[in-house]
Amino acid sequence: MTKPVKKYRIAIVGAGPAGYFTAQAFQKAQTEYLIFDIDLIEKLPTPWGLVRSGVAPDHQKIKTVSKVFEKIAKEPNFRLFANVEIGKDVSLKDLRDQYDVVVLATGASKGRKLGIPGEDLKNSFSAAEFVPWYNTHPDFVDVEVELSSDTAVVIGAGNVAMDVARILAIDPSELDPTDIAEHALAKLKQSNIRKVIICGRRGPEHAAFTAPELRDLPKLENTDVFIDLKQIDDAIKHTLDTGEVEKDLKNNIEAMRTIAINAKKDVARKLEIKFLLTPIEIKGQGKVEEIIFQKNKIKNGKITATNESFSIKTGLVISAIGYDSIEFPGITIESGRINNIAGHVERNVYTVGWAKRGPIGVIGTNKSDSNDVVDLIIENLKEPKNTDGIIKLLETGHEVINQQAWEKINNQEIANGKLQNKPRSKIIYRSELIQISKQIV
Ligand code: NAP
Repeated sequence: MTKPVKKYRIAIVGAGPAGYFTAQAFQKAQTEYLIFDIDLIEKLPTPWGLVRSGVAPDHQKIKTVSKVFEKIAKEPNFRLFANVEIGKDVSLKDLRDQYDVVVLATGASKGRKLGIPGEDLKNSFSAAEFVPWYNTHPDFVDVEVELSSDTAVVIGAGNVAMDVARILAIDPSELDPTDIAEHALAKLKQSNIRKVIICGRRGPEHAAFTAPELRDLPKLENTDVFIDLKQIDDAIKHTLDTGEVEKDLKNNIEAMRTIAINAKKDVARKLEIKFLLTPIEIKGQGKVEEIIFQKNKIKNGKITATNESFSIKTGLVISAIGYDSIEFPGITIESGRINNIAGHVERNVYTVGWAKRGPIGVIGTNKSDSNDVVDLIIENLKEPKNTDGIIKLLETGHEVINQQAWEKINNQEIANGKLQNKPRSKIIYRSELIQISKQIV
C-alpha cells in the first residue's frame, strides 16, 4: 500500500523573525508525504518585524538576516499576506477554522510602565514608542519627541536601553549612512542633548546588557562613555563572594571594567551608565524637567533601598524596561505573554517568539524556539482539513500586499537609499507603501 500524501495549511501571524523562522522550520520538515502550504499574515504593509522597526539603525549588520527571510519567501510553498490584521480584517476564529494550524508570532510591542508619578508627562516615553519612531514604523511617525535639553535619561540596564542611549548620544552624522527615519535624523541633527545617562536599578553584576554590545561602546568615535569604576569593583567583589562566576557575567563585567578605565577622548558627547538607582518620580510643569531616584545598595546579593535619593535635571526620559504582548480577540495574555504550554495555546493554535516566551532573547534565539514548536505541532497533527485558507476570508478588494508587491516596495526603498548612500530609505506612510506596491513594473 502506498503511503498517503498529507497536505496541511499553516497560517503564521506576524512576519517578524519568529514568524519567518517558523516558516523555515515547516519548510525543512517537509517530506514527499508531508506537505505544508504556509501563509504568513502581517498587519503592517511591510514584513520583517523588529528587523525593520526594532534593530538600531547603527547596527546594519544585524539586519542582513533579512536575506534569510527573503530566501524563505522564495520557496514555492510560501505566501505573504501583508496589510492584513487579525481581529479587524480576519478573526482568529476564522483562521482556526480555515487552517490546520495557526501559529501566533505576534511579538510583544507594548512597553511596560514604570508606574511612578510623572510618567505621563510630555517628553517621557517608553522605548516601545521611541524605537519605532526612529525606525520609521508608520504608526509612530507622529510621536512628538523634543530634544531641546542637554541631558537625557534612559531607564533600564538592557540592550534596548543601550540602543536608545547610543542613538541619542552619538554624532548624528554617524547615522547618515543608515536607514534611520528621515524625520528622526533631522531632529537628532538639531538635538541639544550632549549627555545621556542610563540608569539601572540593580548593580553591574545584574545588568541585562550583553558583552558584544558593551564592547562596542568604547569604540564610539564621537562619544565618551563612563561607568564608575568603584561600582564595577564592588560588583566583582560581590560576584566572587558567590563562588564560581558564569562566563557571560564575567564577560559583561570585564567589558564594563574596560569602559570604566578606558581613556576618554574629551569630546562633548557623553554617555554614562549608572547603577543602583530606582526611579521614583518624574517632575516637571507640564513636561519632564527632573527625575528622582532612590539609591540602592547590594546586601547579600539582593538590592535594598537606602534612605538617600538622587536627582537628575533632564528634559527627556525614556524607559526601556521590557515589553508585554498585546491582547486581541480570542487571546488572553498572562504575565505579558500569550498563555501557552511549550508553545501550545489551545486546539490548533500555537505561539512562538516573544509572544510565547516574553521579551527575551536576540533574533537568533527565535530559530531554535520555532524549531521546537514546529516539532510539537507536527507531533500533534491530525488529518488535513482541506479548506480554502485566507482568500475566502478577506473582503473583496482588500489591499493585500503579497510577496511580489512587497518586493516592489523593497526595491523602491533600496533604489531611493542608493541615491543618498544609504542601504535603504524607508517609506513612511501606509498609503504610500500600498500605492508603491501596486506599481506596474
Ligand atoms: P531586558 O534585557 O529584559 O532589560 C530590561 C531592563 O529593565 C533590566 O535591566 C531590568 O532590571 C529593567 N527594569 C525592569 N523593570 C524596571 C523598573 N520597574 N524600574 C527600573 N528598571 C526596570 O529588556 P530589553 O532591553 O527590552 O531587551 C529585550 C530583549 O531584546 C533582550 O533579550 C535583549 O538582549 C534583546 N535585544 C538585543 C539587542 C542586540 O542584540 N543588539 C538589542 C536590543 C534588544 P532588572 O533586571 O532589575 O529587572
